[in-house]
Amino acid sequence: MPEGPEIRRVATRIHKVLAGREACEVQLTQPRVAAYGPRLSGHTVSWVSSRGKALLTHFDNGLTVYSHNQLYGRWYITRRDKPPRTNRTLRLAIHTETHSALLYSASEIEVHTPETLLQQKYLSRLGPDALDDRVVWRDILHRLQDKKFSGRSLAALYLDQSFVAGIGNYLRSEILFNAKVNPFDRPKDLSRRQLGSLARNTVQLTRQAYATSGVTNTAARVKRLQAQGLTRRRYRHLVFDRQHEDCYHCGGEIERIEVSSRRIYLCQACQPRLFKSATGSSQ
Ligand SMILES: [Zn+2]
Repeated sequence: MPEGPEIRRVATRIHKVLAGREACEVQLTQPRVAAYGPRLSGHTVSWVSSRGKALLTHFDNGLTVYSHNQLYGRWYITRRDKPPRTNRTLRLAIHTETHSALLYSASEIEVHTPETLLQQKYLSRLGPDALDDRVVWRDILHRLQDKKFSGRSLAALYLDQSFVAGIGNYLRSEILFNAKVNPFDRPKDLSRRQLGSLARNTVQLTRQAYATSGVTNTAARVKRLQAQGLTRRRYRHLVFDRQHEDCYHCGGEIERIEVSSRRIYLCQACQPRLFKSATGSSQ
Protein backbone atom coordinates (compact mmCIF):
# COMPACT_ATOMS: atom_id res chain seq x y z
CA MET A 1 0.00 0.00 0.00
CA PRO A 2 1.41 3.45 -0.81
CA GLU A 3 2.41 5.38 2.29
CA GLY A 4 1.90 9.04 3.17
CA PRO A 5 4.90 10.34 1.17
CA GLU A 6 3.78 8.52 -1.99
CA ILE A 7 0.21 9.82 -1.70
CA ARG A 8 1.54 13.34 -1.07
CA ARG A 9 3.63 13.16 -4.25
CA VAL A 10 0.57 12.08 -6.24
CA ALA A 11 -1.43 14.94 -4.68
CA THR A 12 1.30 17.41 -5.69
CA ARG A 13 1.30 16.12 -9.28
CA ILE A 14 -2.49 16.33 -9.54
CA HIS A 15 -2.46 19.80 -7.94
CA LYS A 16 -0.06 21.03 -10.64
CA VAL A 17 -2.42 19.89 -13.39
CA LEU A 18 -5.80 20.82 -11.85
CA ALA A 19 -5.41 23.68 -9.38
CA GLY A 20 -6.85 26.99 -10.53
CA ARG A 21 -8.41 25.35 -13.59
CA GLU A 22 -12.01 24.66 -14.45
CA ALA A 23 -13.01 21.02 -14.27
CA CYS A 24 -15.05 20.95 -17.50
CA GLU A 25 -16.29 17.48 -16.71
CA VAL A 26 -16.28 15.41 -13.52
CA GLN A 27 -17.44 11.80 -13.52
CA LEU A 28 -18.00 9.64 -10.46
CA THR A 29 -18.91 6.16 -11.64
CA GLN A 30 -20.13 4.59 -8.40
CA PRO A 31 -23.95 4.93 -8.08
CA ARG A 32 -23.60 6.12 -4.47
CA VAL A 33 -21.80 9.31 -5.54
CA ALA A 34 -22.63 9.57 -9.27
CA ALA A 35 -25.06 12.47 -8.78
CA TYR A 36 -22.16 14.69 -7.65
CA GLY A 37 -20.56 14.59 -11.11
CA PRO A 38 -22.84 17.26 -12.63
CA ARG A 39 -22.63 19.32 -9.40
CA LEU A 40 -18.82 19.49 -9.66
CA SER A 41 -18.56 19.88 -13.44
CA GLY A 42 -17.89 23.47 -14.49
CA HIS A 43 -16.33 24.38 -11.12
CA THR A 44 -12.71 25.28 -10.53
CA VAL A 45 -10.41 22.98 -8.53
CA SER A 46 -9.04 25.11 -5.67
CA TRP A 47 -6.32 22.76 -4.48
CA VAL A 48 -5.40 19.11 -4.10
CA SER A 49 -3.83 17.85 -0.90
CA SER A 50 -3.32 14.68 1.12
CA ARG A 51 -3.87 13.77 4.75
CA GLY A 52 -2.35 10.51 5.86
CA LYS A 53 -3.14 8.16 2.99
CA ALA A 54 -6.25 10.04 1.81
CA LEU A 55 -6.29 12.41 -1.14
CA LEU A 56 -8.52 15.49 -1.08
CA THR A 57 -9.61 17.44 -4.15
CA HIS A 58 -11.19 20.74 -3.14
CA PHE A 59 -13.56 22.60 -5.49
CA ASP A 60 -14.47 26.30 -5.39
CA ASN A 61 -18.13 25.51 -4.61
CA GLY A 62 -17.06 24.17 -1.19
CA LEU A 63 -17.29 20.48 -2.05
CA THR A 64 -14.32 18.15 -1.56
CA VAL A 65 -13.80 14.77 -3.17
CA TYR A 66 -12.25 12.39 -0.62
CA SER A 67 -10.52 9.29 -1.99
CA HIS A 68 -8.51 6.53 -0.34
CA ASN A 69 -6.57 4.24 -2.64
CA GLN A 70 -6.49 1.25 -0.29
CA LEU A 71 -4.46 -1.54 -1.92
CA TYR A 72 -5.60 -1.28 -5.51
CA GLY A 73 -6.41 2.32 -6.35
CA ARG A 74 -4.25 4.04 -8.91
CA TRP A 75 -4.16 7.61 -10.22
CA TYR A 76 -3.20 8.46 -13.79
CA ILE A 77 -2.53 11.98 -14.97
CA THR A 78 -2.75 12.30 -18.74
CA ARG A 79 -3.33 14.71 -21.59
CA ARG A 80 -7.07 14.86 -22.05
CA ASP A 81 -6.98 13.22 -25.45
CA LYS A 82 -4.69 10.39 -24.28
CA PRO A 83 -6.51 8.07 -21.84
CA PRO A 84 -4.27 5.32 -20.38
CA ARG A 85 -4.40 1.77 -21.65
CA THR A 86 -5.66 -0.19 -18.69
CA ASN A 87 -8.20 -2.86 -17.84
CA ARG A 88 -8.89 -1.25 -14.49
CA THR A 89 -12.32 0.17 -13.60
CA LEU A 90 -12.59 3.94 -13.80
CA ARG A 91 -13.99 5.41 -10.57
CA LEU A 92 -13.32 9.12 -10.80
CA ALA A 93 -12.40 11.35 -13.73
CA ILE A 94 -11.65 15.05 -13.53
CA HIS A 95 -11.11 16.63 -16.94
CA THR A 96 -9.83 20.12 -17.61
CA GLU A 97 -9.62 21.45 -21.15
CA THR A 98 -6.14 20.00 -21.54
CA HIS A 99 -5.60 17.29 -18.90
CA SER A 100 -7.31 14.46 -17.05
CA ALA A 101 -6.78 13.15 -13.53
CA LEU A 102 -8.19 9.63 -13.45
CA LEU A 103 -8.60 7.35 -10.46
CA TYR A 104 -9.02 3.65 -11.17
CA SER A 105 -10.01 0.71 -8.97
CA ALA A 106 -10.30 2.63 -5.66
CA SER A 107 -13.67 2.05 -4.07
CA GLU A 108 -13.50 4.53 -1.19
CA ILE A 109 -14.65 7.75 -2.83
CA GLU A 110 -16.87 10.26 -1.08
CA VAL A 111 -17.97 13.86 -1.63
CA HIS A 112 -18.10 16.19 1.38
CA THR A 113 -19.12 19.65 2.45
CA PRO A 114 -16.69 21.44 4.84
CA GLU A 115 -18.88 20.30 7.75
CA THR A 116 -19.14 16.61 6.84
CA LEU A 117 -15.42 16.52 5.93
CA LEU A 118 -14.56 17.27 9.56
CA GLN A 119 -16.52 14.22 10.64
CA GLN A 120 -15.23 11.88 7.93
CA LYS A 121 -14.52 8.50 9.54
CA TYR A 122 -10.89 8.08 8.45
CA LEU A 123 -9.84 11.75 8.65
CA SER A 124 -11.37 12.39 12.07
CA ARG A 125 -9.28 9.59 13.60
CA LEU A 126 -5.93 10.65 12.09
CA GLY A 127 -3.08 11.78 14.28
CA PRO A 128 -0.72 14.59 13.20
CA ASP A 129 0.70 14.13 9.71
CA ALA A 130 4.52 14.04 9.71
CA LEU A 131 4.42 15.72 6.28
CA ASP A 132 2.47 18.68 7.64
CA ASP A 133 4.88 21.65 7.89
CA ARG A 134 3.28 22.71 11.16
CA VAL A 135 4.17 19.40 12.82
CA VAL A 136 7.54 19.42 14.60
CA TRP A 137 9.42 16.57 16.27
CA ARG A 138 8.34 17.70 19.73
CA ASP A 139 4.71 17.06 18.74
CA ILE A 140 5.66 13.45 18.05
CA LEU A 141 7.64 13.29 21.32
CA HIS A 142 4.56 14.42 23.25
CA ARG A 143 2.50 11.70 21.63
CA LEU A 144 5.12 9.06 22.49
CA GLN A 145 4.92 10.24 26.12
CA ASP A 146 1.10 10.34 26.11
CA LYS A 147 -0.42 7.54 28.24
CA LYS A 148 -2.73 6.71 25.36
CA PHE A 149 0.28 5.50 23.33
CA SER A 150 3.23 4.95 25.71
CA GLY A 151 2.25 1.44 26.80
CA ARG A 152 1.90 -0.03 23.31
CA SER A 153 4.64 -1.75 21.29
CA LEU A 154 6.40 0.44 18.73
CA ALA A 155 5.55 -2.17 16.08
CA ALA A 156 1.82 -1.58 16.65
CA LEU A 157 2.09 2.16 17.22
CA TYR A 158 3.96 2.88 14.00
CA LEU A 159 1.17 1.46 11.85
CA ASP A 160 -1.59 3.17 13.84
CA GLN A 161 -2.76 6.19 11.84
CA SER A 162 -4.24 7.77 14.98
CA PHE A 163 -0.72 7.99 16.45
CA VAL A 164 0.99 9.58 13.44
CA ALA A 165 -0.67 9.73 10.03
CA GLY A 166 0.91 8.58 6.80
CA ILE A 167 3.45 6.04 8.09
CA GLY A 168 3.27 2.56 6.65
CA ASN A 169 5.30 -0.60 6.56
CA TYR A 170 8.64 0.46 5.07
CA LEU A 171 8.81 3.72 7.02
CA ARG A 172 8.14 1.83 10.25
CA SER A 173 11.23 -0.38 9.83
CA GLU A 174 13.40 2.51 8.67
CA ILE A 175 12.43 4.88 11.50
CA LEU A 176 12.86 2.27 14.26
CA PHE A 177 16.26 1.21 12.87
CA ASN A 178 17.61 4.74 12.54
CA ALA A 179 16.46 5.53 16.08
CA LYS A 180 18.09 2.24 17.25
CA VAL A 181 14.97 1.03 19.04
CA ASN A 182 13.39 -2.41 19.10
CA PRO A 183 9.91 -2.95 17.60
CA PHE A 184 8.75 -4.88 20.68
CA ASP A 185 9.70 -2.17 23.16
CA ARG A 186 7.17 0.45 24.17
CA PRO A 187 7.71 4.21 24.43
CA LYS A 188 7.67 3.88 28.24
CA ASP A 189 10.65 1.47 28.09
CA LEU A 190 12.82 4.08 26.35
CA SER A 191 14.99 6.86 27.77
CA ARG A 192 14.15 10.51 27.08
CA ARG A 193 17.07 10.59 24.68
CA GLN A 194 15.82 7.57 22.74
CA LEU A 195 12.33 9.05 22.56
CA GLY A 196 13.79 12.29 21.20
CA SER A 197 15.75 10.39 18.56
CA LEU A 198 12.66 8.39 17.61
CA ALA A 199 10.54 11.54 17.31
CA ARG A 200 13.18 13.29 15.17
CA ASN A 201 13.59 10.27 12.90
CA THR A 202 9.81 10.00 12.48
CA VAL A 203 9.61 13.50 11.04
CA GLN A 204 12.92 13.47 9.14
CA LEU A 205 12.61 10.11 7.39
CA THR A 206 8.98 10.68 6.37
CA ARG A 207 9.92 14.05 4.83
CA GLN A 208 13.00 12.58 3.20
CA ALA A 209 10.84 9.83 1.67
CA TYR A 210 8.56 12.51 0.21
CA ALA A 211 11.49 14.49 -1.22
CA THR A 212 13.25 11.44 -2.71
CA SER A 213 10.26 9.35 -3.92
CA GLY A 214 10.75 6.83 -1.14
CA VAL A 215 14.53 6.61 -0.73
CA THR A 216 15.31 6.45 2.99
CA ASN A 217 19.02 5.60 2.77
CA THR A 218 21.50 8.46 3.22
CA ALA A 219 22.36 10.54 0.15
CA ALA A 220 26.09 9.74 0.47
CA ARG A 221 25.48 5.99 0.71
CA VAL A 222 23.03 6.05 -2.21
CA LYS A 223 25.66 7.78 -4.33
CA ARG A 224 28.30 5.21 -3.39
CA LEU A 225 25.97 2.23 -4.02
CA GLN A 226 24.82 3.68 -7.35
CA ALA A 227 28.47 4.03 -8.38
CA GLN A 228 28.82 0.29 -7.64
CA GLY A 229 25.99 -0.37 -10.10
CA LEU A 230 23.35 -1.38 -7.55
CA THR A 231 19.68 -1.11 -8.53
CA ARG A 232 17.22 1.21 -6.77
CA ARG A 233 15.76 -1.71 -4.86
CA ARG A 234 19.20 -2.47 -3.41
CA TYR A 235 20.21 1.09 -2.43
CA ARG A 236 16.79 2.46 -1.49
CA HIS A 237 16.45 1.53 2.19
CA LEU A 238 18.45 1.27 5.41
CA VAL A 239 16.98 -2.11 6.47
CA PHE A 240 13.65 -2.67 4.73
CA ASP A 241 13.77 -5.51 2.18
CA ARG A 242 17.43 -6.22 3.13
CA GLN A 243 17.10 -9.60 4.88
CA HIS A 244 20.49 -11.38 5.36
CA GLU A 245 22.40 -8.32 4.14
CA ASP A 246 24.91 -6.40 6.29
CA CYS A 247 23.78 -3.70 8.69
CA TYR A 248 25.14 -0.32 7.56
CA HIS A 249 25.97 0.59 11.17
CA CYS A 250 27.54 -2.53 12.69
CA GLY A 251 28.02 -5.03 9.85
CA GLY A 252 25.65 -7.52 11.56
CA GLU A 253 22.92 -9.36 9.69
CA ILE A 254 19.57 -7.74 8.95
CA GLU A 255 16.67 -9.93 10.05
CA ARG A 256 13.13 -10.11 8.81
CA ILE A 257 10.34 -10.81 11.29
CA GLU A 258 6.57 -10.74 10.97
CA VAL A 259 4.16 -9.05 13.33
CA SER A 260 0.45 -9.44 12.54
CA SER A 261 1.46 -10.69 9.05
CA ARG A 262 3.34 -7.48 8.25
CA ARG A 263 7.12 -7.51 7.67
CA ILE A 264 9.56 -5.71 9.93
CA TYR A 265 13.30 -5.61 9.19
CA LEU A 266 15.80 -4.91 11.92
CA CYS A 267 19.33 -5.35 13.25
CA GLN A 268 19.17 -7.06 16.65
CA ALA A 269 22.63 -5.72 17.58
CA CYS A 270 21.76 -2.08 16.85
CA GLN A 271 18.19 -2.39 18.14
CA PRO A 272 18.47 -4.48 21.33
CA ARG A 273 15.29 -5.11 23.24
CA LEU A 274 15.23 -3.18 26.53
CA PHE A 275 12.10 -4.59 28.13
CA LYS A 276 12.83 -8.25 28.90
CA SER A 277 10.34 -9.25 31.57
CA ALA A 278 7.57 -7.88 33.77
CA THR A 279 10.20 -6.70 36.29
CA GLY A 280 12.94 -5.90 33.83
CA SER A 281 11.74 -2.55 32.56
CA SER A 282 14.44 0.05 32.04
CA GLN A 283 12.22 2.62 33.74
ZN1 LIG B 1 23.52 -3.15 13.24
